[in-house]
Amino acid sequence: RKGSVIITGASSGLGLATAKALAETGKWHVIMACRDFLKAERAAKSSGISKENYTVMHLDLASLDSVRQFVDNFRQSGRPLDVLVCNAAVYLPTASEPTHTADGFELSVGTNHLGHFLLSRLLLEDLNKSDYPSKRLIIVGSITGNTNTLAGNVPPKANLGDLRGLAGGLNGLNTSAMIDGGSFDGAKAYKDSKVCNMLTMQEFHRRYHEETGITFASLYPGCIATTGLFREHIPLFRLLFPPFQKFITKGFVSEDESGKRLAQVVEITNKRLWRWLYTKKVGMSV
Ligand code: NDP
Repeated sequence: RKGSVIITGASSGLGLATAKALAETGKWHVIMACRDFLKAERAAKSSGISKENYTVMHLDLASLDSVRQFVDNFRQSGRPLDVLVCNAAVYLPTASEPTHTADGFELSVGTNHLGHFLLSRLLLEDLNKSDYPSKRLIIVGSITGNTNTLAGNVPPKANLGDLRGLAGGLNGLNTSAMIDGGSFDGAKAYKDSKVCNMLTMQEFHRRYHEETGITFASLYPGCIATTGLFREHIPLFRLLFPPFQKFITKGFVSEDESGKRLAQVVEITNKRLWRWLYTKKVGMSV
C-alpha cells in the first residue's frame, strides 16, 4: 500500500515542496494539515500534485481545540498514519507586543511548539498502530536555536532559562510571554520554540522509541530565504536576505531542494539512512 504522511503547514514553502516531492514518487498519500483550506487546495493544484495523492484537512495549530478536532477528523478518515511531519511555524521578529493563540499563549511558542506538542502526543497512538516498515515523527528544527552554530549565536540567543514563563502560562498579561520569564522578543520566541521542537524529539526518543519502534527526528533544512516565513520582516531585510544567504554565507537552499531533503528524511529506508549519515556525517538527531 501507499504510505500515509501528515505534513503540517503544507500550504507554502518547505511543507508544500515536501508534499510535492513525496506525491511525485507515487508511493505516498499526503495529508496537508493546513489552517487555510482554500490556500492549501490552490497551492496543491498549482504545484501540480495529482488529486489522488493528497487530501487537505483543516488544522490551526494556534488553537488546541482545533488540534483535537483535526485528530478526530483524521481518525474518522480511516487512513493509517505512517509518518507525521511537524513543519508549520510562524516567525514574528518585528513584533513589539506579544500576540496570542486561542488558548492565550504567546503565538510563536504556542503555534510552533505547544500546538505541535499536543498533535504529536495525540498521534503517537496512531503512529504506533502503523504496520509500515519505518514509522517516523519528524519536527523541522532550525540552526538559529543551536548556540553551537554561527547563526545560533546571533543575538537574541535562544534560552529557555528555568522555564518560569512557561510555568506561569506564557500569556504576557499577568506573567511573561517568554519561556524564560524575560521581556518579550519575537525573534527570541521563535528560536526558543525551535529549541523546544528539537528537545521534544530527543525526549520522545528517550521515552517512546524502544517501546514503539517509531523513529523520532529533527532536522535543519538549510536557509530557504525565499519562503513566507520572513513575511513579517522589514522590506529591506526581505530584499537582502536571499542574496546574502546565496553569496555570502552560501547557506541558501531553494524551496525545491529543501523539499527533496525533507522528503528523503520521510522515506529513506533505515538501512540507507544509516549509510547516508555515516558517509556524510550529517548532524541530525535520530
Ligand atoms: P512558510 O511561512 O512558507 O510556511 C509555514 C507554514 O506554516 C505555512 O503553510 C503556514 O500556513 C503554516 N502555519 C502558520 N501558522 C499556522 C497555524 N496556526 N496552523 C497551521 N499552519 C500554520 O515558512 P517555511 O516553509 O520557511 O517554514 C517551514 C519550516 O521550516 C518551519 O518550521 C521553519 O521554522 C523551518 N525553517 C525554515 C527556514 C527558512 O530559512 N525558511 C530555516 C530553518 C527552519 P499559511 O500558508 O496559512 O500561512
